[in-house]
Amino acid sequence: MKLVLLGPPGAGKGTQAAMLVAEFDIPQISTGDMLRAAVRDQSPMGIKAKEYMDAGGLVPDAVVVGIVCERLQQADCQGGFILDGFPRTVQQADALKQTLSDMNMQLDSVISLEVNTESLVERLIGRRTCGTCGKGFHLKFDPPGSDGRCSVCGGELVHRDDDQEATIRNRMDVYHQQTAPLEDYYRQDGLLQAINGMDEIVTVQQKIVSALQAG
Ligand code: ADP
Ligand code: ADP
Ligand code: ZN
Repeated sequence: MKLVLLGPPGAGKGTQAAMLVAEFDIPQISTGDMLRAAVRDQSPMGIKAKEYMDAGGLVPDAVVVGIVCERLQQADCQGGFILDGFPRTVQQADALKQTLSDMNMQLDSVISLEVNTESLVERLIGRRTCGTCGKGFHLKFDPPGSDGRCSVCGGELVHRDDDQEATIRNRMDVYHQQTAPLEDYYRQDGLLQAINGMDEIVTVQQKIVSALQAG
């Protein structure tokens, strides 16, 4: 299964990707996670990327395309993958198409998660991520243990710097301007499957799995 998860910040891409990893036994490729790892490592690329991320803008296409293309060459991606947060521009989508075609591959589906803006803001403000194992939580919708720590590994939960209201609004604008055109792009390719992302997490998961089985 070769999938793209499309949707605005907070739509549930990371949450659903984690479930699909278990369901289909294929890797999750999250450009956000990869970029945050580069920022933590203070690699030259990470240092540059941080400025764009802190402002809620997009990291330049060439950088992100480079990271993803390299990742897709690895052995564990040959049987399928879940792209989470990539592509985010038409240029990235074109580059992905070319890379996959060079590898004699093509996407099976693009799942688009649809959630209204006010819910997105509420989700991002309450989002917390385990600093140790990366598991995602929400203070209200998917709460951690009563000690406020990760229910899987006991790690400390992190509130992302870019999950503050001003940056969130900026990220929404960027989504509408640069990423939303990909809905039409993939609709024209016959790959788009729109899912109502407003339902509860498990319901959304069931709908995605049914949509993929229906093909
Ligand atoms: P994205 O990767 O699209 O930015 P996340 O998967 O990180 O989104 O989800 C954003 C926040 O919303 C997280 O705190 C997550 O726990 C929560 N969340 C995800 N899906 C739902 C849902 N269906 N209903 C309520 N909250 C959700
Ligand atoms: P979200 O919760 O908004 O889905 P991500 O974790 O996917 O956030 O991304 C966080 C930040 O990393 C983005 O705001 C952007 O600066 C950068 N980023 C992630 N993926 C991409 C991409 N495909 N192209 C450009 N920048 C990206
Ligand atoms: Zn954890």
